Amino acid sequence: MLSIASEAGAIRPLSVTMASFPHNNRTFQILDAAAKGGFAVGAYNCYNDDGVLAVIRAAEAARSPAIIALFPWTMKFQGVHFIRFAVEAAHAASVPIAVHLDHCIEPADVEAALELPFDSIMVDASIQDEDENVKQCARFVQVANAKGITIEAEMGRIEGGEDGLPSVDLETVMTKPEAAKDFVDRTGVQFLAPAFGNIHGSYGPGGPEKCWNLPLLAKVHRAVGPVPLVLHGTHGVSDQLFHEARKNGCVKINLNKTVRNEYTRFIAESAGKLELTVLKEKGVEVYARSIERAMRDILDSAGKA
Ligand SMILES: [Zn+2]
Repeated sequence: MLSIASEAGAIRPLSVTMASFPHNNRTFQILDAAAKGGFAVGAYNCYNDDGVLAVIRAAEAARSPAIIALFPWTMKFQGVHFIRFAVEAAHAASVPIAVHLDHCIEPADVEAALELPFDSIMVDASIQDEDENVKQCARFVQVANAKGITIEAEMGRIEGGEDGLPSVDLETVMTKPEAAKDFVDRTGVQFLAPAFGNIHGSYGPGGPEKCWNLPLLAKVHRAVGPVPLVLHGTHGVSDQLFHEARKNGCVKINLNKTVRNEYTRFIAESAGKLELTVLKEKGVEVYARSIERAMRDILDSAGKA
């Protein structure tokens, strides 16, 4: 493939550099292709280099697009050099892989992230009241878009409280379809994470089946039209329910423990018994296998890159 080096030193396909925003943005391209192709793409939360390598290896093996999602924690604990490593490795892959910053709650973290080569950032002002959420998002959308970075925002965050029971009344934070349309229009965000009963952390008794309001998700999808929806709160969600979410507009699906549990188990059982080199090689292999399964069975993104 023809390519040129971008300012950040990463290699981007030539066709990409000639398109205009947001069509030249990697996360946008990946999600736009998914929406048009009838599949979804995983945003895999990575905490270390094993995670980054596992996503890249799984994506290349399955010929699937992917999104590496990092938290502000990574920016702070592992520093800017780790972010640059993740972006460089992702962009050098033989399939499209974007690097996204998930749940950026502190405005100072967004400011810091805007100086880094992220493809997209989730500005999470969902704990603020609606007006403040709109104001904060709109301001960051302007600055980020001017730098070629796309923005995801969330309306009404639901945290799993003690024993997985939501800490707020589910009904009060659910995204209203007309409010979603208004939010997208006023902020200009490229991707929207609605609250339709999806819970961060663990679901209580009855699981997501009991909490999710899929008809509401369908209405939000209709209200915001072509804006790709993002699914948060996926721990413990069945393959079938993932398919329901996809049918109702979710094209970016955040996956954390769903693809990380096997890896954690393997490391816990093998640490101290294997040489570190072998532990890492096998750990990444186990991790990548879980991701590949998601690409095939949950997302249908395998073979789409
Ligand atoms: Zn989330």
